[in-house]
Amino acid sequence: AEDPAVRPRSALELVDVGHSYGDRVVLRDLSLVLAEHRVGVIGGNGSGKSTFARLLNGLVVPTSGRVLVDGLDTATDLRAVRRRVGFVFQDPDAQIVHPTVAEDVAFGLQNQRVPAAEREQRVAEVLDRYGLSGHADHPAHLLSGGQKQLLAIAGVLVMRPARVVFDEPTTLLDLANRRHVARVVEQLDQDVVMVTHDLDLLTGFDRVLVVEDGRVVADGTPAETVPWYVARMT
Ligand code: ADP
Repeated sequence: AEDPAVRPRSALELVDVGHSYGDRVVLRDLSLVLAEHRVGVIGGNGSGKSTFARLLNGLVVPTSGRVLVDGLDTATDLRAVRRRVGFVFQDPDAQIVHPTVAEDVAFGLQNQRVPAAEREQRVAEVLDRYGLSGHADHPAHLLSGGQKQLLAIAGVLVMRPARVVFDEPTTLLDLANRRHVARVVEQLDQDVVMVTHDLDLLTGFDRVLVVEDGRVVADGTPAETVPWYVARMT
């Protein structure tokens, strides 16, 4: 990994954020700055974790308050925000849109009008990093569940975002693929926000938020928060 002292960090700021779907309030009174390299988000089903994750790259715009990415407001600077913050969904099928593996990874670069030669080089690089080179011309839907999640991650990383938000990336995977994705996350130079029920994924994280009923009820190192959370949930 690069020297953390010189690597520029991304900073996410939530200012008095609340979010409702219709009448249902799912997030309330959130004021936070997330500037750490790796931040985990844990909490029970329906606590608001996924909505929280989606706020961070503008997939959801808050119904009150503001979300700022390096000072850019997700409500008004969506394109610039998306360039800084990538998003990996629980279900890779939600993210894979192109017929072949290589085309799928190239899609975002094409959108940004990255020249063909650079595009091909960057696509080849990430496919190689994730062991997908041999599948470049294969139909993406024929990959295994674990390979599809790696493809989804490759499609985000090829864009070189400063931070990647993961929304339960291992929930649909078997144990071997969970371990593989965990190693991939461990090796990322990018900053990470990780929503997960898979507490093992948070080993070595700098900070973990515990969300309950739309509020952050604990915030600290994994050693401070994870045992507290486990005791509370069991
Ligand atoms: P978590 O990820 O912790 O399970 P979510 O953010 O997905 O929590 O959901 C929080 C609450 O908001 C849940 O009660 C859920 O049913 C509701 N919710 C989530 N997305 C929507 C939506 N698009 N429309 C209406 N309600 C939603």
